[in-house]
Amino acid sequence: PRDMYGDRLNSHGPDISIAKVRQRLTAAVTALDKDPKDANALIGGKPHSTYAAHVYAPADLTRIVGEVHDADPAMITEAFDRATAAQPAWNALGGDGRAKVLEAMADALEDRHDKLCAILVREAGKTWGDAISEVREAADFCRFYAKLAREQFAGPQILTGPVGERNSHELHGRGVFVCISPWNFPLAIFTGQIAAALAAGNAVLAKPAEQTPLIAQKAVKLFYGAGLKPDLLALLPGGGASVGAALVAHPGIAGVAFTGGTDTARMINKTLAGKEGPIVPFIAETGGLNGMFVDTTALREQVVDDVIASAFGSAGQRCSALRLLFLPSELADDYIATLKGAMDQLHLGDPAQFDVDVGPVIDADALEMLNLHLDALTERGQVLHRAPLPDGLNGHFFAPVLAEISGPQELAREVFGPILHIVRYDSQNPEAMTNALKSSGYGLTLGVHSRLEAFAERIMQAVPAGNVYVNRTVIGAVVGVQPFGGEGLSGTGPKAGGPLSLSRFASERAVSVNI
Ligand code: GLU
Repeated sequence: PRDMYGDRLNSHGPDISIAKVRQRLTAAVTALDKDPKDANALIGGKPHSTYAAHVYAPADLTRIVGEVHDADPAMITEAFDRATAAQPAWNALGGDGRAKVLEAMADALEDRHDKLCAILVREAGKTWGDAISEVREAADFCRFYAKLAREQFAGPQILTGPVGERNSHELHGRGVFVCISPWNFPLAIFTGQIAAALAAGNAVLAKPAEQTPLIAQKAVKLFYGAGLKPDLLALLPGGGASVGAALVAHPGIAGVAFTGGTDTARMINKTLAGKEGPIVPFIAETGGLNGMFVDTTALREQVVDDVIASAFGSAGQRCSALRLLFLPSELADDYIATLKGAMDQLHLGDPAQFDVDVGPVIDADALEMLNLHLDALTERGQVLHRAPLPDGLNGHFFAPVLAEISGPQELAREVFGPILHIVRYDSQNPEAMTNALKSSGYGLTLGVHSRLEAFAERIMQAVPAGNVYVNRTVIGAVVGVQPFGGEGLSGTGPKAGGPLSLSRFASERAVSVNI
């Protein structure tokens, strides 16, 4: 455990090297399999049913994890009206009252740990290790934003002024926030966005990713169980083009928090710019074209471990994941040989098994996009290696790929999955590559592996990135420890899990009274 903000610890998770823990988790997944659930729209806490569609396990397409019922336009109207009516009292409760609910939510997440992990493994294809980290992160977000709510929403802060004049400044909620979250962290980011919006005094209309409505429904029910009035949080499952677009276009909303693709963020931004109603904040956390620079002083084993984890962990489906590995020309061949060996050790398979390192990608579209990119690399003779793909798998599996390209300019956009591109650079002139990386316009994570502080400094100065990591992985930001988020094509900020997280979820009021 690491110290968070000096006075409390981040959430702990169980150790899956312990046989008893594995038994417990296996029992949770077996129980889930016996009892597939429906994910409904939840409005005023009540489930609403519409036409139901199957939710399949990405690791096994014969397995139905549950059914999803998408929200319809009338439900959006009802959810918005209820949220609007409930928000003022929630705002008036103040930071401390809201923090109590969020802390109860963090406890509830920890209490339901095994069940939540089981849903993540089945519905999102997460490995157990990733699922455990995700439950911890969700709990961390709740506690962290609770703490910020207490500190930043404690009532008016008195400011200076001339004698006889009392000046103060206060934060309060904006109204009804729309939160649109991705399938790659369907619990942590889903819960984190909602917790931030609630902490600041807003009500929330939440649209989970189409692929992962079940874990979202579970989280929303836990919020209700933690004492949140159901009208303050509606769950509206559905597609981005239908439910997402309708929510964003609603003239009454007070803001949008979105994590997902850069193109979708642009569409949302356009809708917000063109619609009637107040001018509202847009908080976007989008993709990355993340690079890591290794120099000749770096420690080989550590580099290889960190690269494999950063590029292929979570099947490369993190926006923080490593896409471009810059190797000094003189060492590139040696590194490539070692990386190939390490890739051969990766165990691809159904993540319900404990020895699996790389699970499936999320769906058929993701698989197709990766295959298209692989075809292009193959055509140009750029593929160096592939991790083994075991026989008999029946899901959306894509074996990790190592390729070599001449520079970042060859990748116009983020390719979301386990494909790592090696780029050789001239140790005398890393700027040729830092400049190329900078011109991609993304700015999420950046890695450096070097024993020379001056080298790390040189790279850091040259490449814009919201999260810089030296001599470690570029994934796995911890709430309150590595506040997470990028700039440029990678997002707007404020960072998730950082001291400014709540700033754009809130409105400010300054009061000046002459006595
Ligand atoms: N916060 C995650 C990490 O540091 C990535 C979040 C995302 O992929 O959206 O790896």
